Amino acid sequence: MFDYLIVGAGFAGSVLAERLASQADKKVLLIDRRSHIGGNAYDKYDDHGILIHPYGPHIFHTNAERIFSYLSQFTEWRPYEHRVLAQVDGKLLPIPINLDTVNKLYNLNLTSEQLELWFRAKAEPVENVRTSEDIVVSKVGRELYEKFIRGYTRKQWELDPSELDASVLARIPTRLNRDDRYFTDSFQAMPLHGYTRMFEKMLKNPNIKIMLNTDWREVRDMVPFKHLIFSGPVDEYFDYKFGKLPYRGLEFKHETLDKEEALPVGVVNYPSEDVPYTRVTEFKKLTGQQHHKTSVVYEFSRDASITGDPYYPIPRPAATAQYNQYKELADATPGVTFVGRLATYKYYNMDQVVGQALATFDKLMGIREPDNKEKIVLAGNGAATPHAPAANPIPTRKPIVAPARVPVATAAASTAAAATDTMTGGSSVPVAAKQPAP
Ligand code: FAD
Ligand code: UDP
Repeated sequence: MFDYLIVGAGFAGSVLAERLASQADKKVLLIDRRSHIGGNAYDKYDDHGILIHPYGPHIFHTNAERIFSYLSQFTEWRPYEHRVLAQVDGKLLPIPINLDTVNKLYNLNLTSEQLELWFRAKAEPVENVRTSEDIVVSKVGRELYEKFIRGYTRKQWELDPSELDASVLARIPTRLNRDDRYFTDSFQAMPLHGYTRMFEKMLKNPNIKIMLNTDWREVRDMVPFKHLIFSGPVDEYFDYKFGKLPYRGLEFKHETLDKEEALPVGVVNYPSEDVPYTRVTEFKKLTGQQHHKTSVVYEFSRDASITGDPYYPIPRPAATAQYNQYKELADATPGVTFVGRLATYKYYNMDQVVGQALATFDKLMGIREPDNKEKIVLAGNGAATPHAPAANPIPTRKPIVAPARVPVATAAASTAAAATDTMTGGSSVPVAAKQPAP
């Protein structure tokens, strides 16, 4: 009899398997219908020996030290600060929009102070910022919105930004300075040997058995277990009782080029609706791999009912209302815990899912929610829990690189970036999931 059957070997399922096995000595069966662990963060070497992300580019970034420290038990890191250029009016310009973006686009020579006034003059007053259109036009005006945001968003979501929650475009700040990093989080890095190696180390524990190519439906009546943790799509779990939740899917076109370098930065975005794909990624820029060839991927956004795999929950009021019906049912389902991007229908980054899984572990163990966010953040790190030995028992072959703050350009630049972001980007890490006790 397994203590836990965990469906899905992505971050949500794997973090919980690791915690339950290593900190609570629970017997875990982890299954995934795919042929590999890692979920959407899975990476592999392609036919040319280049490390690629088959499910699209995954860049790790977080402001939560405990999440970075937790993952650092299973990997060393390669410092990497992500930079993205957008092709607009025949030019490659930094996105998020910053001082250089505007100066280069319009051949201006504005200072930060002048740019602030410039944005103020262009901005459209919006009394109640609700949508992704509101959040952008109220900061930078309609012209930049149309050049950088509207087309990309319409391609990505098949919705106008006016139909999407403001939270989607809140991910992309606007800056008055020249900081051209995509993220400003304190920790920005890639697993040195890739995500899959990291997952392998996480799951290397005699208490964890893994079954791949296995759908939950195939084994649910065959495998004895005490508690189920489900990280697949919540609507699928409940047989679409309240209808299918909408998800965006992606079609990927991978290509290997007979040259060393393809792009000036890791990712180039194409906001124009005349270009069928949204962005192109060159993996070597992310991984730092040296190779005489290079591999890239083009992303084409599609309705998930066409492509199969659901990738993005859709943040808009109708979908949230539909999800809330499932959530009510999920909360009332004893013996099952729902966790992860698909099971809780949240547009979460990897660090947010790790945070959610750590909080879920605490909940399952009956660890009381501390009174404030910081305490909860600490409790999420196994070392603070009553069940946790001081160190993770999983042996690591190489010394773990200290989870040093991954260097940002300069401390001053990063402070300036934080001070001049005019929209709030970055991730907020969920601190506790409301799940039924086992
Ligand atoms: P998943 O990784 O989706 O894992 C769920 C697993 O459950 C899957 O492997 C699936 O096969 C399995 N499963 C589902 N149903 C069943 C079933 N019935 N039976 C058996 N198995 C089942 N985040 C970042 O922080 N940085 C990035 O740069 C970034 N880039 C992204 C790019 C793309 C294109 C996408 C789609 C996402 C990106 N993310 C990024 C988000 C990141 O992928 C997710 O936050 C994270 O992978 C979610 O982990 P999860 O475990 O919740 O879900
Ligand atoms: N976005 C945009 N133009 C860009 C980049 C992003 O309009 O050049 C919008 C788009 O709606 C996208 C959202 O911002 O879906 C979030 O972008 P992010 O890069 O965070 O998307 P992800 O990496 O999750 O696909």
